[in-house]
Amino acid sequence: MKIDSDECALCDICLKFCPENAIIKKRFKIVITDDCTDCKKCLDICPVGAIHTE
Ligand code: SF4
Ligand code: SF4
Repeated sequence: MKIDSDECALCDICLKFCPENAIIKKRFKIVITDDCTDCKKCLDICPVGAIHTE
């Protein structure tokens, strides 16, 4: 899973949503950590479609 930082609007919705808390804010960017289990549940929740499979 990957977040395109050019598309991300920094709304923080995905941060609260991820059941594994694998989405974090790092130096003003939203990134997905190794805690991600690839469940793909976050794909549809981003309002601007910035979350992609790799
Ligand atoms: S795929 Fe699942 S575990 Fe990984 S970041 Fe998205 S919601 Fe979290
Ligand atoms: S839900 Fe989408 S726009 Fe909002 S912080 Fe996450 S990746 Fe960025």
